Amino acid sequence: MASKKNLVPRRDFIKTSALGLSALSIGLPLNSALATSCGSSGKDKLGIALVGLGNYSKGQLAPSLLETEHCYLSAIVTGTKEKEKEWAKKYNIPKGNIYNYENFDDIASNKDIDIVYIVLPNSMHAEFTIRAAKAGKHVICEKPMAVSVAECKAMIKACDDNNVKLSIGYRLQFDPYHKRIINLSKENTLGSINYVNADFAFTIGDPTQWRLKKDLAGGGALMDVGVYCIQACRYSFGQEPIALRAQAFNSGNEKFKEVNETITWQMEFPDGKISNSTTSYAMSVNSLFVSAQKGKAQLMPSYGYGGIKGFIKDEILEFPKFNQQQAQMDAFALNVKNNTDSIVPGEEGLKDMKVIEAIFKSLEQNGARILI
Ligand code: NAD
Repeated sequence: MASKKNLVPRRDFIKTSALGLSALSIGLPLNSALATSCGSSGKDKLGIALVGLGNYSKGQLAPSLLETEHCYLSAIVTGTKEKEKEWAKKYNIPKGNIYNYENFDDIASNKDIDIVYIVLPNSMHAEFTIRAAKAGKHVICEKPMAVSVAECKAMIKACDDNNVKLSIGYRLQFDPYHKRIINLSKENTLGSINYVNADFAFTIGDPTQWRLKKDLAGGGALMDVGVYCIQACRYSFGQEPIALRAQAFNSGNEKFKEVNETITWQMEFPDGKISNSTTSYAMSVNSLFVSAQKGKAQLMPSYGYGGIKGFIKDEILEFPKFNQQQAQMDAFALNVKNNTDSIVPGEEGLKDMKVIEAIFKSLEQNGARILI
């Protein structure tokens, strides 16, 4: 079992030391003091278990969990033995809070885990979300939510059936630049929005990586970064697309034997409004452009963890450095604590997956118009 001192990360110990000292002075263990401090969950900070300790967990999520106010890294799930020691030491994870993919279901009895964050290859998202829900844990699942509409629906059902919340890792919905874009349609700042162009592409490296394997990735750049374009078009208009057409391009590069290299697609929104997007693993593009009755808005670069630049009409957008992952995880932890709805629930991922399936259907039918 976890030793008591390991249950609060080092940095949080400093933040909570005043509370801790007063607890100790009246003879209470530190965790009892935290347990009474706030929220309907009865805990000050909820424990998050990261499932899959690859680049995103290592480079972004775990470091951000040292900055979060309402949650902390309490457990890890990994298939790589060597990572256990390294992560346990770096993040003060007790031995009893380290799991692998086989004994994952044992998390059900671990009180240190409130939320499970799935950061695995795309085709593993559904299985681990459903297993986490059955273990009675709330879930954050990385984008793309899964690799099919059927999987997304099964994930939502599993979370509903087990009375746990589900959120998708759409970090940009918490970013101040993107929040301004989201607010354009809500506040009618520029009048009616009539056109959106959202492109996201990068040049992929290692030809052996899972992102280029159909069974693990579910598709190429569309599943990986194209999903940001679908999101951006949907939240820029503040409406859902009703139909689309798509085209695929392939240079014949060996890398793209299993998945598409480049896809472009055009979506129709209500009242004849349209969007245009490109996603690719063979070029570098990163932009969002919004045209409206009374002006234009643009973010370029648009989809990074930081460094976003842009304008809305005459206003140059400028926000201080911002940690998207911290904001995203804290927001979900608050949803759990206060029993409120997730800002980016499973239904958001499902809507994007419906668009992705329509894009693949259009490609199969040589660019035919597909109703969504
Ligand atoms: P990664 O390849 O760096 O890490 C994947 C992890 O899964 C590794 O730890 C690997 O060991 C583990 N794994 C387990 N089974 C595996 C298998 N059969 N094949 C390959 N790996 C296996 O990938 P990543 O970049 O961390 O991406 C993980 C997920 O996070 C993806 O769904 C991706 O779309 C998402 N992601 C989201 C963002 C974002 O900004 N929201 C950024 C990067 C990645």
